[in-house]
Amino acid sequence: MTHRILIIEDNQIALRTMKAFLENDGYIIETAVDGETGYDLVKRGRYDLILLDLGLPGIDGTEFLSLLRCDCVIPVIVVSAKGSDIEKVVAFNLGADDYVVKPASPIELSARIRAVLRRGQAEVHSTRWLRIGSIVVNLRQREAFHRGIRLNLTVREFDIFRLFVTHPGVVYDKTEVFRLIWEEGTEYDEAVVSVHISRLRKKLVFDDVPPIITTVWGIGYKFDGTAIPIDHPDA
Ligand code: CA
Repeated sequence: MTHRILIIEDNQIALRTMKAFLENDGYIIETAVDGETGYDLVKRGRYDLILLDLGLPGIDGTEFLSLLRCDCVIPVIVVSAKGSDIEKVVAFNLGADDYVVKPASPIELSARIRAVLRRGQAEVHSTRWLRIGSIVVNLRQREAFHRGIRLNLTVREFDIFRLFVTHPGVVYDKTEVFRLIWEEGTEYDEAVVSVHISRLRKKLVFDDVPPIITTVWGIGYKFDGTAIPIDHPDA
């Protein structure tokens, strides 16, 4: 099977170099030179992997990752000149699968790509279902169950729920929740986010489930628990 890779990189020379040697490796390569174009391509196309530069015009690499990870499990390898531990931790927290510091040797990049593609195949299957205590979530069908009983979540509530449980430990403030969940162009309204989060929390109160969305005072909210990928709801 030929894998399709999307490279998002604004440096034309780096882009052409990577494209050439990866095509030589047998991959189908598409490219974007900014985050917006990359995101549009992801929404319309089918890719097995994304190589992502962090310093991009417009939506930068970290913003691209947060947007992508709302509803997408395509493996991402960050390829960045920024090589500090903090930058790596931020990228991994946002859902990057691997991190390669530029300039990356073609041999190293190829090896990392193969490793992530192998891992990615296992992951796509396991992230269909998540278990959080006695709550089970079907990410593809967009349903959550508590002890077999379907939770009555609105579309928006499910989106918020999914954002938190798929990003354990990541703190989002209200503006970020809004930007990631609501349609582009919608005017920001803090009260709307508060109301949704409070309604969602009420629907998630169970004796045997720890709080899903905890308040980080003065900053925002986070999911402090663990979501375990499972193959099947009965697992
Ligand atoms: Ca760049």
